[in-house]
Amino acid sequence: MGEAMMLKGIAVSDGIGIGNAFVVGRKSLSYENRAVSNIEEELTRYHEAAAKFTERTNAMADKISANTSKKEGEILRGHILMLNDPYMSSEIEKLISSGVCAEEALSNVCDSFINIFSSVDDELTSQRAADVCDVKASMLSILLGVEEVSLGGLPPQTVVVAEELTPSMTSDINGENIVGIVTERGGKNSHSSIIARALGIPAVIGVEGAAELLKNGDKVIVDGLSGNIIVSPDTDTLRVYIGKQSSFNEESGELNHFRGKPTVTGDGKVKKLYCNIGYADEAVRARECDGEGIGLFRTELMFLNREEPPTEDEQFSWYKKAALTFRESSVTIRTLDIGGDKVIPYLGIEKEENPYLGNRAVRYCLKHEDIFRTQLRAILRASTFGKINIMIPLVTGVEELRAVKGIIANIKRELRIKSIEFDDSIKVGIMIETPAAAIKADLLAEEADFFSIGTNDLIQYTMAVDRGNSNVEYLYSPLDPAVIRSIKRIIECAHDAGIPVEMCGEAAADPLMLPLLISFGLDGFSVSPSYVLKTRRNISKWNKESADKIVQQILLLKTEREIREFIKAELKEIK
Ligand code: PEP
Ligand code: MG
Repeated sequence: MGEAMMLKGIAVSDGIGIGNAFVVGRKSLSYENRAVSNIEEELTRYHEAAAKFTERTNAMADKISANTSKKEGEILRGHILMLNDPYMSSEIEKLISSGVCAEEALSNVCDSFINIFSSVDDELTSQRAADVCDVKASMLSILLGVEEVSLGGLPPQTVVVAEELTPSMTSDINGENIVGIVTERGGKNSHSSIIARALGIPAVIGVEGAAELLKNGDKVIVDGLSGNIIVSPDTDTLRVYIGKQSSFNEESGELNHFRGKPTVTGDGKVKKLYCNIGYADEAVRARECDGEGIGLFRTELMFLNREEPPTEDEQFSWYKKAALTFRESSVTIRTLDIGGDKVIPYLGIEKEENPYLGNRAVRYCLKHEDIFRTQLRAILRASTFGKINIMIPLVTGVEELRAVKGIIANIKRELRIKSIEFDDSIKVGIMIETPAAAIKADLLAEEADFFSIGTNDLIQYTMAVDRGNSNVEYLYSPLDPAVIRSIKRIIECAHDAGIPVEMCGEAAADPLMLPLLISFGLDGFSVSPSYVLKTRRNISKWNKESADKIVQQILLLKTEREIREFIKAELKEIK
């Protein structure tokens, strides 16, 4: 056995694959940039290659759409549209007509698209750059007649390792013999990733040097959950991964039962199950993961990594996109939650001794009304495209809520004067994530349209423990009696005032929290997209009566540890 080695890439298809490497040798796509004398012949050569690409890709899209995933099939058809795009094809033809060979014409035009797409700092656009790369490589291999390896007849338990897989190679892949895919290049939507997801084959892309470092027959573990590739694992590692593999397979089978179903407790109480997102594009993923809406859109993430604030129109397009993705459900947009750990240089936040206790979130927005108004105007304008709610972070008192509502009322007046449409009944809710808000939850509930409990900060401020400091991590828990009491009170105050209350902190996806949240009557959960099905399954295991019984005992316990052990033991019982 060779020396154990770990490589890292980007996980694009879930699951754990364990098998023997089959390394697809590097194919050279280099060509001689020759001048063309017979232009007609060169144009025909290009058109024939494009027709072959279209035919192969279509055949594969049909196969995928019919057998596995319609959506992945559509992505492939998008590649055909891209190559046949009138602008792209006319540019290529123009170059060939000027005497440039087909390979050079194709590469030139594709490269200029790749440059444009990669210069935009947006996930969807950079994905398009990867798509063009994929189309370019496939077309070059057809034009150059590069011999393609068939992946059809490989032995069982094979992990395919390649620089990149072309459409014709991937069309032979079947999910029975191939248990993992590792590539050096490609994007989330490149052919190999699409096929991998469609066939449920764990896959990792962007693994630098994989096709050089791995040898045929090497034992490989492909961790399509973390993006790790382990080559020649020792027996202990292998055992751990065999365990991970079987629990992943068991769980995915079970979780699929919950896809497309409403979220209900064992005794039939319907709960909302939303997603947390940080970028407008993630709304699509939230939908694919079966989220019922967006419970927390962390807008500040889109203000990071840029030189100046996004314009109103730019923000409008993000919020509109999210609203349209969940047109029939709701999208809760949190206003800028900057400061603390999220520093944005161009927003001119002064350096403070204690940034977590300083000028952050709603406090910053109320001091910088111009930036706040731009965001609120964008949200209000987008509100006609779906069901948008506005959520204010880090509220500590009624005066902040009133101030924000005042600004919103003012913007609404301006919009009305300009005859710009917006949803006049837009709800304005608050995050409860400070002890002050929890203690005054009764007062806030009278003036807020909804509550969402932000346990990430609520724990930090309640326990006086920095959420990112591992020295004090032992104190950071949603199961501490102080946090539990706080959550109980927040939910009671919301219900006494007749407003809904959700939770969007990480604790919403913690199975140990469920008896408490079901017993207290939490109305909705907002979790990261990959936790939707697990949370729906976990909620289905509880009913109010059994949760109440357990919670009565939990409330008598005095330490986090006792509570944790007690709930763990109960969870074993209900499995
Ligand atoms: C929270 O504090 O629980 C929360 C959801 O907000 P963030 O994690 O963005 O601070
Ligand atoms: Mg927070």
